Amino acid sequence: MIPAAFDYARPTTVDEALQALAAGGEDAKVLAGGQSLIPVMRLRLAAPSMVVDLTRVTELRGVREEGGDDGALVIGAMTTHSDVVSDPLIAQHAPLIAQATETVADRQVRHRGTFGGALAHADPAGDLPAVALALDAEFVLAGPGGRRTVPAREFFVDYLTTALAEDELLVEVRVPKLAGQWGMHYEKFNRVAQAWSIVAVAAAVRREDGHIAEARIGLTNMGPTPLRATASEQALAGAVAGADAVAEAGPARRRGNLAQRRPQRQGRLPCASRPGAHPPGGQRSGRSPDVGVSRATRELVHRPGSRRRGVAGAARHRADRPLHARRRPGLGHR
Ligand SMILES: Cc1cc2nc3c(=O)[nH]c(=O)nc-3n(C[C@H](O)[C@H](O)[C@H](O)COP(=O)(O)OP(=O)(O)OC[C@H]3O[C@@H](n4cnc5c(N)ncnc54)[C@H](O)[C@@H]3O)c2cc1C
Repeated sequence: MIPAAFDYARPTTVDEALQALAAGGEDAKVLAGGQSLIPVMRLRLAAPSMVVDLTRVTELRGVREEGGDDGALVIGAMTTHSDVVSDPLIAQHAPLIAQATETVADRQVRHRGTFGGALAHADPAGDLPAVALALDAEFVLAGPGGRRTVPAREFFVDYLTTALAEDELLVEVRVPKLAGQWGMHYEKFNRVAQAWSIVAVAAAVRREDGHIAEARIGLTNMGPTPLRATASEQALAGAVAGADAVAEAGPARRRGNLAQRRPQRQGRLPCASRPGAHPPGGQRSGRSPDVGVSRATRELVHRPGSRRRGVAGAARHRADRPLHARRRPGLGHR
């Protein structure tokens, strides 16, 4: 399907982009790599009146270091997945990000899709939100009143909803450098290669004298937002580093981990966290074969009162509102 007509702005600076967003009002949408937004526009699930294209805002691209070994990596929102995968700073200080990004879709999508777009989209099946959460990343948002920094724990507010206000842009993400004794791994369970996660686990662990000094674990697609497996983290802290500690911290802590929020996939955590295991009754791949949106995106619906509307939010004042209004979570639309 062809998207509904829209106005188009292609700024070259963050300031110009913010002005264009403000001029577009509440029906304006930011376009990054377009890998999630364009499909939902083509489905007429989103019909923004104005699209603000960030592809020429070069200041939003690239990765740089801040501070010394205890400092941070700063990843520009418009840095593509491909650039993230091949970046030497990320490989050195935050390999978990590169590892998870490598599992995102295929080369074509990774060539256009962006780090910031994937996080702003906040799809619970997306691979990068749980990684950002596990790494205690910070999100730098720019708006008409200046910039503010939001910790990952507060950025993912609800299903496809973030702390971004309608007139704000995600400009960069700060990730603490985790060097030295830290080990990291992203384990993704999907039925088809290059598909969305059914579930996945992002883990970073610091070892000291053969013990686990600190563990950070993010869960993908096990709730409406990415989750931290805090009960498992607590169980691991102080334990002798080894398979026994991991075995104890998995199943026994499952209930505690998922009790934070109403889970979508309660009961599947132990399987996902065990390499090579299969989730019981896992029927959905989460990927639409012909459209680059996850099932979560296809089911999306605007929730009144949410701070940042998901990609479909801009549809609500448009001519196709009745179509959008028919979308309900849990109902297919094809
Ligand atoms: C076939 C296919 C398979 C895929 N498989 C996976 C997968 O396995 N795992 C995975 O994690 N992802 C997957 N994706 C999604 C991919 O990671 C997208 O790149 C990502 O979801 C959106 O990034 P984007 O840059 O294309 O953003 P866009 O589609 O341009 O934007 C997405 C949303 O974020 C908003 N936005 C974007 N940038 C900003 C910003 N700087 N500030 C404020 N708001 C912003 C937009 O307004 C829009 O609402 C897949 C996509 C396709 C097409």
